Amino acid sequence: MSDVALRRFKKGWMNLLVTKVIKDTHDTHTFIMEDNEDSGRVFDYNAGQYLTFRFDDIGPKPLVRSYTMSSSPNQGNYSAFTVKRVEGGVVSNWLCDKVVEGSILRARGPIGKFCYNPATDNKHLIMVAGGSGVTPFVSIMREYSDKLGRPGSPEKMTLLVSYRSREDLICWEDLLAINKVHGAKVFTTLSREDASVEGFWHGRIDHAALERTIGGAYNDATFMTCGPTAIMNMTVEHLKMHNVPDKHTKLESFES
Ligand SMILES: Cc1cc2nc3c(=O)[nH]c(=O)nc-3n(C[C@H](O)[C@H](O)[C@H](O)COP(=O)(O)OP(=O)(O)OC[C@H]3O[C@@H](n4cnc5c(N)ncnc54)[C@H](O)[C@@H]3O)c2cc1C
Repeated sequence: MSDVALRRFKKGWMNLLVTKVIKDTHDTHTFIMEDNEDSGRVFDYNAGQYLTFRFDDIGPKPLVRSYTMSSSPNQGNYSAFTVKRVEGGVVSNWLCDKVVEGSILRARGPIGKFCYNPATDNKHLIMVAGGSGVTPFVSIMREYSDKLGRPGSPEKMTLLVSYRSREDLICWEDLLAINKVHGAKVFTTLSREDASVEGFWHGRIDHAALERTIGGAYNDATFMTCGPTAIMNMTVEHLKMHNVPDKHTKLESFES
């Protein structure tokens, strides 16, 4: 039986055991976890979905926050989420500072519809992200990169992601590997650093960057965007200008 077959959908609160913490960048950590019940049997989910975590010990009142899986369901017997510190943020900093191997986190889910839907989506998936908003797309690209063009999968995937500088590149090694897959493309733009000699684009995500990414595929793609409001608004405006129907524009906001 494969690892994936061992997974199953769960209901209600889960106790998740953190088995590893990876410092992904100077301000971003990835938490690898397995289910602490059922002998480590892991929960199933769709790439792009998130969990709702409840923290009882940080402050006087319980705190609830959502985090998207950055792993894909086809990756081994574990799940992972990736957290970027928010300046002054209570939970993101607590997670990055306090959670270690052996910590137990309480979460429920998975929930969310920010996923590729083979029944209704176009075969080309174009994703636009900024900062931590890349996490659902890391999951989606990990999930489909080795089955592009097969039934139930997109044929092509294109990601445009924006960071401030090279030190902010989240899940970078995996995205570099995915970029080499035929049919998958990752464009990375840096807003505060010119590293064009290394192949990065320079500047914020604007109409020109979106046009370059989309390459005229406005009628053939389904678009997904996640990240800072400014990037999501810019993407939606751009797609409206090019008459992309709402049903092919999917949004996920991380900001409440
Ligand atoms: C569906 C969903 C999925 C999410 N997935 C992820 C994920 O995979 N990785 C991840 O790092 N975060 C993710 N988030 C964001 C996460 O839930 C928290 O909002 C974030 O970690 C900040 O929480 P905090 O307690 O540190 O900040 P708070 O103490 O709640 O907020 C501190 C300040 O930061 C502002 N703020 C809050 N959230 C953000 C944000 N995301 N960006 C910029 N400013 C913010 C607030 O307005 C406030 O001023 C997701 C959010 C949602 C709704």
